[in-house]
Amino acid sequence: MEFCPECGAMMLPKEGILKCNSCGHEKSLSNNNEYEVSRDIKESENVKVLGDESDVRPTTTEVCPECGNDKAYYEIKQTRSADEAPTRFFTCTECKYTWREYD
Ligand SMILES: [Zn+2]
Ligand SMILES: [Zn+2]
Repeated sequence: MEFCPECGAMMLPKEGILKCNSCGHEKSLSNNNEYEVSRDIKESENVKVLGDESDVRPTTTEVCPECGNDKAYYEIKQTRSADEAPTRFFTCTECKYTWREYD
């Protein structure tokens, strides 16, 4: 958000410029050079993400009993005998706390 340098009121974008709500002071929006720079940064970030061998386990919406985070990795494990239902195990994406699903 931009504020007017003249009176400090909020400036609203209007037809390629920012115009002060209060005193009418006008300021041109950021030029094309700035746009190019931010695009370059985004592209180099993408390259970094592609090379990152981070955790690819699926996540699900599950509230962590430890920290309250609502995203957790999950995996399904068959426990004990085969006629028992497989148990889902969750690992909090934030604090790494691990718990199992209770029916
Ligand atoms: Zn103003
Ligand atoms: Zn947690």
